[in-house]
Amino acid sequence: MPPKLLDDCFLHDHERLRHDEALDRLKSRIVPLTATEQVALAGAAGRVLAEEIRAPRPVPAFDNSAVDGYAFAHADYLAAKGRLKLSGRVAAGHPGARPVVKGTAVRVFTGAVMPKGADTVAMQEDVTVEDRFAIIPEGLKQGANRRKAGEDLNAGAVLLRPGRRLRPQDIAAIASTGKAEIACYKRLKVAIVSTGDEIVRPGAPIESGQVYDSNVFLLRALIEATGAEVTDLGVLADRRDVVEAALAEAARGHDAIVTSGGASRGEEDHVVKAVEAMGRLHMWQLAIKPGRPMGFGQIGECLFFALPGNPVAVMVCFLLYVRPVLLRRCGADWPEPRRYLLPAAFSMNKKPDRREFLRGMIVEDDAGHRSLDKYPRDGSGLISSLRAADGLIEIAEEVTSVAPGDPVAFIPFESFGCY
Ligand code: AMP
Ligand code: MG
Repeated sequence: MPPKLLDDCFLHDHERLRHDEALDRLKSRIVPLTATEQVALAGAAGRVLAEEIRAPRPVPAFDNSAVDGYAFAHADYLAAKGRLKLSGRVAAGHPGARPVVKGTAVRVFTGAVMPKGADTVAMQEDVTVEDRFAIIPEGLKQGANRRKAGEDLNAGAVLLRPGRRLRPQDIAAIASTGKAEIACYKRLKVAIVSTGDEIVRPGAPIESGQVYDSNVFLLRALIEATGAEVTDLGVLADRRDVVEAALAEAARGHDAIVTSGGASRGEEDHVVKAVEAMGRLHMWQLAIKPGRPMGFGQIGECLFFALPGNPVAVMVCFLLYVRPVLLRRCGADWPEPRRYLLPAAFSMNKKPDRREFLRGMIVEDDAGHRSLDKYPRDGSGLISSLRAADGLIEIAEEVTSVAPGDPVAFIPFESFGCY
């Protein structure tokens, strides 16, 4: 057999690494960094929790009224057929010292400590007051409109475990336990690099054959949305020495480097060769579309992602592979994007052996039935397709055609924490 040519055109998709296999490798091999720091709750949204949070006391800490109204013992209410003399007043933050006098009702407000002896509250809208008596309608159940101590959290309950990426509601729950600071994993430092002799930064004049750098902005925003800090190392010329020097420098001060462009096997593509020479290339060339030339490796302890140059491939590869790795490396649980099956509103033919990610739009007919359309044009340079899309359509390796009505998997951009 003649030796195999090392050229893209001769490497078939079935010889490339499959999407699932690439993810499995990343999932099993990426270990989180362990450095932590104390973070004030006000700055904790999107950070990754590094400690277990338990409730030191029940939340709420005391039985309290859920409404503005009148509190009483349910047995007294039954005995007096709903007509109870008023005997006191308790507002939120001002617990009354005295128990409710037997056979009477106490004026209470939302959040007020339930007076001792009272177990039920009637809403003020339902009560009429006559001659210092509350006239309460029939049918109130014992415990109505009363919030029990511990009904949100029991003392000692585990609220959150390490690895949780904190959402606003998580932070609210931590605040409800009284903690003002929490241990979080340190933010990752990520360097981004654009490559290509044709790439020019916006703001500069452009000459024939040049292209404005879109990827740096796409990547910065996507990486910052994972909670990492971004350093922009500028645009590198298509020269091996330039690329190597910049990557060596970046690897020393960062936890990860993400490059765009120059990841293929062309003569002007130096990124992957540079990483092979300076560190280790763990995977390269995936059986996917778009984004096939994506590479992953490391230089020292610095993770390395070589993304293709086309903006659509950059976004797709970032969301599928880079984002989960950055989050995991920062201590978070591996994020699994949620997929939804929707009927296709399109038809297509597809090569087997590779997984395709199309830009998908949810469409709704007059009856409110939803289906999934694909952006009509294919090119991986079309930023318009990313803007038009609501998310990614995922077509599995073995599928060779899709007909209208076929169920297809859809991953909304929101599933990746972006929109
Ligand atoms: P490459 O992967 O370097 O061959 O680039 C593939 C395509 O993406 C080429 O048309 C490049 O001009 C384009 N490209 C590369 N980098 C960028 C960038 N930073 N912004 C916009 N387009 C880019
Ligand atoms: Mg290039």
